[in-house]
Amino acid sequence: MKPVILDHLPERLLELDATQLHRQLDGPTLIHLPGRRPQPLFVSVLQHGNEISGWDAVRRLLKSRYRRDPLPRSLILLIGNVRAAAKGRRHLADQPDFNRCWPGSDTVPTIWHDAFAEITDHVRLRKPFASIDIHNNTGLNPHYAAVNRIEPRRLHLASLFSRTVIYFTEPRGVQSMAFGEFCPAVTLECGLAADADGSDHAMAYLDNVLNLREIPSEMPPPEDLDLFSMFATVRVADGIEFGFGDPRRDLSFPANVDQMNFRELPPGTHLATLGNDPGLHLQARSHDGHDLSADCFALEERTIVTRKPLMPAMLTMDEHIVRHDCLCYLMERIAVEPANALAVDRGEESSLPETLP
Ligand SMILES: [Zn+2]
Repeated sequence: MKPVILDHLPERLLELDATQLHRQLDGPTLIHLPGRRPQPLFVSVLQHGNEISGWDAVRRLLKSRYRRDPLPRSLILLIGNVRAAAKGRRHLADQPDFNRCWPGSDTVPTIWHDAFAEITDHVRLRKPFASIDIHNNTGLNPHYAAVNRIEPRRLHLASLFSRTVIYFTEPRGVQSMAFGEFCPAVTLECGLAADADGSDHAMAYLDNVLNLREIPSEMPPPEDLDLFSMFATVRVADGIEFGFGDPRRDLSFPANVDQMNFRELPPGTHLATLGNDPGLHLQARSHDGHDLSADCFALEERTIVTRKPLMPAMLTMDEHIVRHDCLCYLMERIAVEPANALAVDRGEESSLPETLP
């Protein structure tokens, strides 16, 4: 699998929506476009074929005034999984998840790993200004940016997209982690693929970054940044009957529990009501397998409450997902001190769910 590298936009490519790109592109394609400042911005879209906001943002941007005027900065565009996009799927059955196959991956090597290593080497040599990888997700989640290291220039780039920024180091093999080795790299989560405001937001952001002269190397001010680390996955204990707004169950969550998504919950926040068999039927586990339930939750009469400040993400009310995957992920706030401007890895790891990048 050789990535295709082009020095121009194929004619009429911008007229094609994500499901039609496979008519003109065979596979992952890098497109170099010149701009006034030569140091290129790298932008990746459609690593997941059904996450179309990135491609829509890029095609709208390039069809706007930049059809007439030169780009303010050179651009290297990666268009990822066009075969999966044709089917409206994240990836096809005969493909791995592309965003697990970049250098640093711990998945079984495939031809895709070789292709993405080649793309990484190719782009590294061009000393990119920054790297932006654009995604969508599901559920009641806000738009947010994610970083893999707590470092000023990445946090600046992220906070230009959203005040809420998530730090993660798992899973491995994601594009932003590989490119973060040689330039400031962020992942954007643009909400639901079906909502136009995801591509609106991504387009405005790309235009903004293309016009930046430089990325500041001081920590962003605390008022511009709410930084969270994802540290645990929450599941219902085996054999426990649960429901939403149904007090007859062993464990009953509020009927609107998904409204807690991305809200910082103070200690003592009510999470669930218990039935006849009270116990800590909610389990929080770090990705390396530590049981954090007693740190995160407390029993109070017949309820389960939070024990410390927490912010849930990806809370779902789909009973099948709760039973077979998880109820939600937990994040905690990281204080950003200007004095920590040179802080790098915190030496601890957080997990990122499949539904994120
Ligand atoms: Zn994605």
